[in-house]
Amino acid sequence: MTYKSDIEIARAAVKKPIAEIGAKLGIDNSHLLPFGHDKAKISEEFIKSLEGKKDGKLILVTAINPTPAGEGKTTTTVGLGDGLNKIGKNATICIREPSLGPCFGMKGGAAGGGYAQVVPMEDINLHFTGDFHAITSAHNLLSAMLDNHVYWGNEEQIDIRRITWRRVIDMNDRALRSIVASLGGVANGYPREAGFDITVASEIMAILCLANDLEDLQKRLGGIIVAYRRDKTPVYCRDIKADGAMTVLLQQAMQPNLVQTLENNPAFIHGGPFANIAHGCNSVIATKTALKLADYVVTEAGFGADLGAEKFFDIKCRKAGLEPSAVVIVATIRALKMNGGVAKDALGNEDVDALVRGCANLGRHIENIQKFGVPAVVAINHFVSDTDAEVQAIKDYARSVGAEAILCQHWEKGSEGTIELANRIVEIAESGESNFKPLYEDDLPLLGKIEKIAKDIYRADKVVIDKKIENQLREWEAAGYGNLPVCMAKTQYSFSTDPNLRGAPTGHAIPVREVRLSAGAGFVVAVCGDIMTMPGLPRKPSAEAIHLDANGEIQGLF
Ligand code: ADP
Ligand code: MG
Repeated sequence: MTYKSDIEIARAAVKKPIAEIGAKLGIDNSHLLPFGHDKAKISEEFIKSLEGKKDGKLILVTAINPTPAGEGKTTTTVGLGDGLNKIGKNATICIREPSLGPCFGMKGGAAGGGYAQVVPMEDINLHFTGDFHAITSAHNLLSAMLDNHVYWGNEEQIDIRRITWRRVIDMNDRALRSIVASLGGVANGYPREAGFDITVASEIMAILCLANDLEDLQKRLGGIIVAYRRDKTPVYCRDIKADGAMTVLLQQAMQPNLVQTLENNPAFIHGGPFANIAHGCNSVIATKTALKLADYVVTEAGFGADLGAEKFFDIKCRKAGLEPSAVVIVATIRALKMNGGVAKDALGNEDVDALVRGCANLGRHIENIQKFGVPAVVAINHFVSDTDAEVQAIKDYARSVGAEAILCQHWEKGSEGTIELANRIVEIAESGESNFKPLYEDDLPLLGKIEKIAKDIYRADKVVIDKKIENQLREWEAAGYGNLPVCMAKTQYSFSTDPNLRGAPTGHAIPVREVRLSAGAGFVVAVCGDIMTMPGLPRKPSAEAIHLDANGEIQGLF
């Protein structure tokens, strides 16, 4: 049997006009700002008018430690949203906007897969409604104003060796990681080392995704630390007087985007911060708006649950006052086999023993989610190559640890494939058994927070940290940043910092290589391992196959 590609399925979708999709959520046409016929932003006044309305139930989709291809969290988020609608619930989904970098690099699109996708797939994966361009512009405006400030006399006495604010572009381009700027003579400023990150790694992206409204946005932008003086005191974005103009550039980007699934159900796609040096979830404003408009909101957090779910709970839910009702842990037989030691090219063969070994990884994620007080269900994201014996082995394992695993076939069948999961989620959410609490209190010292995550979630014996880095954390505590949550940056492939240590390792140490203060976004990043903030393209980037065919249709996006 041959299967259609994601883009073939997406292109065959029968879309409804976006006004009809908005109407499903009770949004009047006058409050939609359409971008073409199938995308719209939701007006700021309308969002404000929702204040005081009762919230729907929030469901988080997370996953086991993934294979390099991803485990189908987005696909399952879309599938579950459609499944909930199928059983008669008023449900919507909230996911991140894709970045151009991975789209032209290795991963391809990020709008779901098979019969569980959001459309228009090409637009969503490419320029969409211009949010990333706005974020890139706002970020680089601050960079330009900073160098300009130095050029015109440097009133703030910035030490140009200690400028921390870089530039961004939404592209994988290793050539820009480290550059020398301002070469070419006196008229071009003071030569200094600089560099680019990918737009999704920008602190502005994290800020846009955590801000409650435009006022909060501007306040957070103003609080970004851009450089230090010779006496090591910080220079803020507001000292450069860039926060006002940046807010203007971001005004429209702050409004959530509405699109639809293949089954014409509403979907919010807004913001897309990295899941390593940032928190990896869609915007707070989209999630909060969706909760006011739907009875069920299904959302996704990046990477596996050790990183994604922990940050969703400890950063996003804590900051935004969200109370999730249930968690879906996506597991695939391929990734469990990989966690059980099978090599990537052998994942197609049945191997129940390896699968059962790999289930230790799933078991630990189930245990970890319990620490946040939110009930969890395992969704087996079914691949057509999976065997019945393998599916049964996961179900048996889940039962043996007091959990439950439900087979989901949304990739192949759309909402028909998630009816059982949807019914179970409704049961859990209605039961009110969720009793969410973050892992740690705000007043725990920063190092204490890192240790708590390392021990309780990663099951490490210890955190290894240099005196110098420890002192840095103490300085930030003294400067009033001690109450911030910690954003862990480590590999998504393992509970440890070694991507090859799969399954459920114990006894490892978590080395903290570096810490960064995202004072505007409101978290301290602990970098544990090699974290790339400007990825490179692979030897054969997917861009080589992307082209327009004779009919002017886009080929090669997947
Ligand atoms: P994640 O959100 O976890 O990164 P995605 O949902 O984006 O993962 O899926 C990653 C890729 O895997 C996509 O190309 C998608 O089409 C594919 N995929 C997901 N689920 C399935 C499935 N059940 N069968 C086949 N391919 C799948
Ligand atoms: Mg995803």
